[in-house]
Amino acid sequence: MKFVQAANYTPVGNRKINLIVIHDMEAPEKSTTAEGCAAFFHNQPRSNNGSSAHYCVDNDSIVQCVHDMDVAWHAPGANHDGIGIEHAGYARQTREQWLDAYGKQMLGRSAKLTAGLCKRYKIPVRWMTAKGLQAGLRGITGHADVTAAYHRSTHTDPGPNFPKQLYLEIVRSELANLR
Ligand SMILES: [Zn+2]
Repeated sequence: MKFVQAANYTPVGNRKINLIVIHDMEAPEKSTTAEGCAAFFHNQPRSNNGSSAHYCVDNDSIVQCVHDMDVAWHAPGANHDGIGIEHAGYARQTREQWLDAYGKQMLGRSAKLTAGLCKRYKIPVRWMTAKGLQAGLRGITGHADVTAAYHRSTHTDPGPNFPKQLYLEIVRSELANLR
């Protein structure tokens, strides 16, 4: 996997991972979108208002931008114990748009990544809503859920039509392949 260090992140070097946070990039479905997002994170001026995520995913590649053991700046409230994964696409997408040919390739690639992370960090494959996050439960969640739990951001990605349950199903089947 390609690694392009983001400019803005917190070098921690060791931490407990409790959450995987799903985002979209608000960027078009292209084969260079992951690389473009990684370059955006890399080229940002260093600033307390900067942003980053651990992984950027498009239909044909994944670029890692922050090491798992360091804190990326993607979802205030869940940054210290979360891994952020960015996806090509828009929060306004319909379910059909998430599941077009490009989307299926990308979500398959992302689910395989997430399955590996769930195995490595023993994270349960279940979707955490705001209530679960507030209760301190571990799992997979969305930026919108983190926003609803902590009100420290206004972002609502990956949007209401992101196919959460289908994504979890693909993660589960990828995880079964890893066992
Ligand atoms: Zn986000």
